[in-house]
Amino acid sequence: MTAYASLAGPVPCDDRITRAEAFIAASRFDRPTLVIDLEAVAARYRALRAGLGDARIHYAVKANPEPAVVARLLAEGCRFDAASRGEIALCLDLGAAPEAISFGNTVKKPADIAFAHARGVRLFAADAAEELAKIAANAPGAEVYIRLLVEETEADWPLSRKFGAPASEIPELMRTAAGLGLRPRGLSFHVGSQTRLPRMWAPVLDAAHAAWQACRAAGFPLDLLNIGGGFPAFYGEAVPDPAAYAAEVMAMVRARFGPLPEVMAEPGRGMVAEAGAIAAEVLLVTRKRPTDIARWVYLDIGKFSGLAETMDEAIRYQFLTPRDGEPTGPCILAGPSCDSADVLYERRPVQLPLGLAAGDRIVIRNCGAYTSSYASVGFNGFPPLEVICI
Ligand SMILES: *Cc1c(COP(=O)(O)O)cnc(C)c1O
Repeated sequence: MTAYASLAGPVPCDDRITRAEAFIAASRFDRPTLVIDLEAVAARYRALRAGLGDARIHYAVKANPEPAVVARLLAEGCRFDAASRGEIALCLDLGAAPEAISFGNTVKKPADIAFAHARGVRLFAADAAEELAKIAANAPGAEVYIRLLVEETEADWPLSRKFGAPASEIPELMRTAAGLGLRPRGLSFHVGSQTRLPRMWAPVLDAAHAAWQACRAAGFPLDLLNIGGGFPAFYGEAVPDPAAYAAEVMAMVRARFGPLPEVMAEPGRGMVAEAGAIAAEVLLVTRKRPTDIARWVYLDIGKFSGLAETMDEAIRYQFLTPRDGEPTGPCILAGPSCDSADVLYERRPVQLPLGLAAGDRIVIRNCGAYTSSYASVGFNGFPPLEVICI
């Protein structure tokens, strides 16, 4: 017998039904569909802006590149952080000013840099001398900031290791940038995605401040601090409300750096996650052996059709079913594809109603970030995630 029951505690659940969830409840869908509430995106932008004060918000487009989302944020006065030519073109085509777009990927194709430069984008990220050389060759005279490698993270979805330069290398990178005719303006870092609590920023801000001071001591009068993303969404564990969270982070920034000419923030998840919900369907509920405690529940959506962030069970979504309120038991949740990697939650099973059956609607909550853009073009013939904006 598999003893899962002790591992699977009840998931705390905010029982307020969102507008996207209400829309799903009143609709029928023939395939998994993400419903995004544009009003909720706008409200979230305003809350983050209230907390971040005069820091400029660059929405990290990759979190949800749906044109209606980008257009709505543009109408609110938001700026954008783009990672590729495609994201830059999306923002420009919707009417964003090139000065409002930063090219924040530290790993760029030369042709993409040249495209961005030709279209008027001025601000680029880098974390290596070779990348600075590419920027200088394809965007001569551009403004750059150097990304700091984050060593200590308490985020649920870390962005360390792959990105950033060690603090000790940064003054030299500033020197290289200046020598190449670029304008080194400042530093960036990413605290890690889904950093649930403001206090988790402290060690990263300390490291960023030390690197900042070292650059100034080396003669670079920096004027831009980019604090990246990391603003959390509610996935069942308590997070502060977005305005309070952002205000606390900014207070921590000010306590270390004092007044700064320009601060940028790049929320992705925190901007869109809670604005979205996915309508999905239960395809099969079964026990492998009659004595197993945990049932296998197969959905019509999986790792390849939008739920990539269940990798390593890092992001734990919450679910609504038509049988909520009935007794529950532990379930191993899996996607529909013929790939045994397409298991969503197994190490920590999910509590779902005992009566759950094939054909039941299942709603995945607060999943407006990193879902539609992560869906494959159609692995196994399962369609990519449909998106509806309301
Ligand atoms: C992905 C990303 C973000 C957004 O991160 P969230 O944790 O979703 O807020 C911000 N900046 C950069 C450079 C990124 O790569």
